[in-house]
Amino acid sequence: MSREVSRRTFLRRSLAGAAAAVVGFDTVLRGWVSAAELRRGHFALAAGFPSFDGSLLTDGASLAAAADDFGHLVHRRPSAVLKPGSVNDVVEMVRFARRNGIKVAARGQGHSTQGQAQVEAGVVVDMSTLGAVREVNAADALVEGGARWIDLLQQTVPQGLTPPTLVDFIELSIGGTLSLGGIGSQSFRFGPQVDNVLELQVVTGAGELVTCSPSQNRQLFDVARSGLGQVGLVVGARVRLIPAPPNARLYEAFYNDLPAFLSDLETLIDDGRFDTVQGFAVSDGAGGWLYQLETTKYFAPGAEPNDAALLAGLSFTPGTQAAQDMPYFDYLNRLAPLVAFLRQIGAWAFPHPWVNLFVPAANAPTFIGETLADLPAEDVGQGPILIYPFNRDKFTAPLFRVPDERHFFVFALLRNAVPPTPERAAGLVADNRALFERATELGGKRYPFDSVPMTRHDWQKHYQPAWGRLVSAKHTYDPDGILTPGQGIF
Ligand SMILES: Cc1cc2nc3c(=O)[nH]c(=O)nc-3n(C[C@H](O)[C@H](O)[C@H](O)COP(=O)(O)OP(=O)(O)OC[C@H]3O[C@@H](n4cnc5c(N)ncnc54)[C@H](O)[C@@H]3O)c2cc1C
Repeated sequence: MSREVSRRTFLRRSLAGAAAAVVGFDTVLRGWVSAAELRRGHFALAAGFPSFDGSLLTDGASLAAAADDFGHLVHRRPSAVLKPGSVNDVVEMVRFARRNGIKVAARGQGHSTQGQAQVEAGVVVDMSTLGAVREVNAADALVEGGARWIDLLQQTVPQGLTPPTLVDFIELSIGGTLSLGGIGSQSFRFGPQVDNVLELQVVTGAGELVTCSPSQNRQLFDVARSGLGQVGLVVGARVRLIPAPPNARLYEAFYNDLPAFLSDLETLIDDGRFDTVQGFAVSDGAGGWLYQLETTKYFAPGAEPNDAALLAGLSFTPGTQAAQDMPYFDYLNRLAPLVAFLRQIGAWAFPHPWVNLFVPAANAPTFIGETLADLPAEDVGQGPILIYPFNRDKFTAPLFRVPDERHFFVFALLRNAVPPTPERAAGLVADNRALFERATELGGKRYPFDSVPMTRHDWQKHYQPAWGRLVSAKHTYDPDGILTPGQGIF
């Protein structure tokens, strides 16, 4: 291509881009107006259309992407997608949306499974363009809300620092996980990520940029954490850091017996001999299940862990244990090879009707045992089944609802719908609902990024006794009810 042709192509594209740029919102047609449309017609434009540092997109590809998520079950098409170029863009967008009755939701990495970050005919704020790590200090880091945990770790781990507790999949957004809770293998000791954040910058539904922490605007801090995007968009977070270990020794061992497995998991979070504790159910290939313990011990070279002492007294099947050493970052990023493989074979794009429940420890053997006894392996489609415990007293954020018992377990069926048809996915969502009802009867709670249809009554029950706090915060911080309708709470 000659230099002249490429210059002409570039100019044509730029002009087309400028013509397509959104310059207003028609209050009668309730649609966005581009520069080209404005030149051709008359519109009842809303006053005060912001001038964005980033871009407001209305092209088909951007809208279709924002109408999908990791679940691929629910598709609500927004009317525009904001890629903010600054925090001020988010403030201006929320204020404009509020004045004009437009719904708004933040989208982190779109890893919800049931449309939680989607908005029919509203604006999706794609937080990935606010993804900077602003500061790394000795005991904390300041990040933008759209940054991912991996972005932060890539800066902190080489400096010998880490957040105390991490999600298993570190490509999730920090703002998205803090809006949910953020659990992982270290949470039995350090609690969820919402208990390890020191300060948040939030753009409320009233369009105010507010800094909140335990000592400043405490009420907002308590409802923004695990607030499911109901009161504001998290545009910044100060995250706690602690020294990072150099290495991790990852242990695995298998059990045939569920009660023995659950009992050992509880022992391990009580005695704290390991640094991480997780577990899984895996198909035994003959219609039943085996239970896999996965733990780690951190260490520095020259001070390797004592395997025999660490595994002493546990009742896994002898001979099934194995250990593997790896750098700490590789442990945190342990899902990356699997995710790359699932992407490669197309399974990442399958419908994911996931169900993620928290079950009180006293009822876990019955609930998990009965569920697995009735669960054909095909109904998870080779997706993982998580079973691991937490200490209740490490979960202090008032809106992170978990069972009220000293120990509780996560029990999650991270299903791939196979075959990947809408009918198959709908059947599995109905199964999720039945599991949710049974778990709730037994004092369980749902971790609400998964795929369980909920009524308003279910939400009230879910939040009790904090429902009143959420309702009152919603009125205060999102007075026109424009934020995050995809959660279906209000
Ligand atoms: C493969 C995979 C692995 C996962 N592993 C874990 C895990 O180990 N531990 C765990 O706790 N969870 C895990 N999750 C669930 C995950 O935490 C949630 O999906 C969570 O919502 C964060 O993902 P996200 O950044 O993609 O947020 P999204 O799905 O984009 O958003 C989630 C919700 O939060 C809102 N939101 C997003 N960003 C913001 C913001 N900045 N401010 C306010 N509201 C916002 C959205 O509107 C939406 O309602 C996993 C999910 C997947 C698909």
